[in-house]
Amino acid sequence: MLAELKQRIIAGEVHKVYTTPRILVVDDEPLLRDSLRDILQHNGYEASVARNGRDALVQIARQQFDAILLDLYMPDVHGTEVLDFIARRGLDTPVIVVSGDDSVDSVIDALRGGAQDFLRKPYQADELLKRVGNVLQRRRLELENRSILQQMEQSEKWHRFLVNSSPDFIYTLDGEGHFSFVNDRVESLLGYTPSELVGQHFSSLIHPDDISRAQYVFNERRTGKRATRYTELRLRCKACRPHNLESKSVTVELNAIGMYEETDNKFASRYLGTYGVAKDLSERKKAEETIYYQAYHDLLTGLPNRALYKDHLNLAIAQARRNGEKFAVMCLDLDHFKLVNDTLGHVFGDELLLAVGSRLRACLREGDTLARMGGDEFSLLLPKLVGSDTVIGIADKVIAALNRPFNIGNRELFSTVSIGVSIFPEDGETGDSLIKHADIALYHAKTCGRANCQLFHEGMSAPLSNRLSLENDLRHALERDQFVTYYQPQVDLNSGQVVGFECLMRWLHPVRGLISPSDFIPLAEETGLITQLGDWMLNTACHQLKTWKELGLSPVRLAINISPRQIEQPQFVEHIHTALNQHDLHSSLLEVEITENLIMKDVEHTVEKLKQLSAGGIKIAIDDFGTGYSSLTYLKKFPIHTIKIDQSFIADIERDGDTSIVTAIIAMAKGLKLNLIAEGVETENQLAFLRRMECDEMQGYLFSEPLDAQAATALLTNHVSLAASSRS
Ligand code: C2E
Ligand code: MG
Ligand code: MG
Repeated sequence: MLAELKQRIIAGEVHKVYTTPRILVVDDEPLLRDSLRDILQHNGYEASVARNGRDALVQIARQQFDAILLDLYMPDVHGTEVLDFIARRGLDTPVIVVSGDDSVDSVIDALRGGAQDFLRKPYQADELLKRVGNVLQRRRLELENRSILQQMEQSEKWHRFLVNSSPDFIYTLDGEGHFSFVNDRVESLLGYTPSELVGQHFSSLIHPDDISRAQYVFNERRTGKRATRYTELRLRCKACRPHNLESKSVTVELNAIGMYEETDNKFASRYLGTYGVAKDLSERKKAEETIYYQAYHDLLTGLPNRALYKDHLNLAIAQARRNGEKFAVMCLDLDHFKLVNDTLGHVFGDELLLAVGSRLRACLREGDTLARMGGDEFSLLLPKLVGSDTVIGIADKVIAALNRPFNIGNRELFSTVSIGVSIFPEDGETGDSLIKHADIALYHAKTCGRANCQLFHEGMSAPLSNRLSLENDLRHALERDQFVTYYQPQVDLNSGQVVGFECLMRWLHPVRGLISPSDFIPLAEETGLITQLGDWMLNTACHQLKTWKELGLSPVRLAINISPRQIEQPQFVEHIHTALNQHDLHSSLLEVEITENLIMKDVEHTVEKLKQLSAGGIKIAIDDFGTGYSSLTYLKKFPIHTIKIDQSFIADIERDGDTSIVTAIIAMAKGLKLNLIAEGVETENQLAFLRRMECDEMQGYLFSEPLDAQAATALLTNHVSLAASSRS
């Protein structure tokens, strides 16, 4: 009942309850009882009557009254027993004892028993009403007071709940800077319970590096908008140990506002301390770090990216200027990386880049920066350079590190790197010019046969930069008849005679001069123009064979290079036979050179076409053998006649006497009964070695560079011997 009333009070129904106060009149004397009731009713009260003590108990137990007028002397139950009953029930209904007995004892008894007032019979109606009014007024005030208290309690509970379940750390400090309150959030945030912190000075919670900033914030005495805005601070966690402060602190954004108490003096208030809120920034920090990381790093290798590299470069320039030092920018580019991607797929390519990244890392000195600039391009920044020897030393180290085979997905991959270097300040004073010049040097390294390092110097010409215009020119080159074929002799050591030529294309560009195929074949492949170039080369070769035949020269073999795009063409085989027929040539005079990777790209399809070619009598050679990824089992199945050992292995013989791969390739070719040609033979040393290994056919500058048609014809006409016959 009481609880219900409280609810109703809280709900604002208090007034309704009080609009007509309900009063119980308890008296055994009927006349008095009725007169009392009449007076009350007449004055706007709702009056009930109880005829005796027992009746009173029943009614009191049954319903709520706002006041009770109680007679003491009743025959059955005495008034004090009724009071007793009310007290035992915990009712707060005010009782006015109305009695003829006005002895001090009985008044005291009544008041002790819980009565609020005492009225002596006989009474004046006015007096009675005044007493009733007083009692009711007091009760109303009490109820209102209680309701306000309850509301306050409730509201405090809500606030405490809100404060403690806030996602932010909320605190108050006393005037000396000791925590006087912290909310429960502190426990999940820093590991302290609130009671551990209350009483502690704020400085015990601050990361040592942030102390001075924290003092500034926590000493805030201003209020409102003038108070300090949020400041970033690191708070120490409970588990914090001195050596790993960094990881054991939480970054928060904290504010502080002065806290004051009103005083009697209207114009002065007393400073109590500070209160404020700290927001946990860990998540935001993490997000910011991730964003920063992603913006400045290559996500595959985790290395700095171009943007961060440029940052470091600018720092290096400033530092080198200040200290009068030199530093180097080293641009690296993997050789033939596109091949790996094209033939083995991007997953493999990515793995290789990762492996290259970690090998490069191992070559660094402290303070060097390694970045991935994109694709297969890496860049090194080598500060505090003593001389260019250091750079060359590091470049050699890098080249050697990448020369060892990579084991990726059960395959052995070989990857070499070309390097271009520019040095501050002589090769450029800005980041952009240093990178540009290192790139030019890199381009020269590529044209110098790859797997080497070039230092920039003024005489180096820029590479054919404007790709768009080159592409445009390439489209017109055929119709403008700008391509020429050079023929590089292939010599048989047994006879010393030229047994064949490889047809090599050149582009006689009207402005840029003679352009090497390495500079336009990749572009032709990308744009698809390669198929037309291939057709052109096929016809040119056939035409040349026919010319020689008509000149009555003894027949030699011509080899043409075939690009993957050409083989993909449905009429590829047919085209070749048509060309041979049109020129009335025997098919054994033509050899097609393909790379191993081409076979691996689409084994089924390619093998079918190669079989058709071979069945028609055309020879098939594997070019650049050893640099690709073909497996021996495939080679055995394919209709192959010739293996061309890649120049890089021949160069190894001269460079470091490493003959292991060449020896293995020769042994394998002999085992498979394949014809062998060594490419890029430049020295007597190489020749002697190959001769010992009984590798009989060779092609290289030692015998002849590629020749134009006229020179090649002269060679054949004059039966020039390019090598001493091993038979002689
Ligand atoms: P390749 O088929 O491996 O040709 C051999 C390359 O090595 C030629 O370069 C040749 O000039 C060069 N060379 C020959 N002997 C030596 C030597 O002793 N030392 C050195 N360092 N190099 C030597 P070139 O003519 O610049 O051709 C480059 C590549 O361009 C060729 O490599 C071939 O893959 C491609 N290519 C050339 N002509 C054609 C063509 O008509 N069609 C297609 N699809 N590709 C072609
Ligand atoms: Mg070739
Ligand atoms: Mg080759």
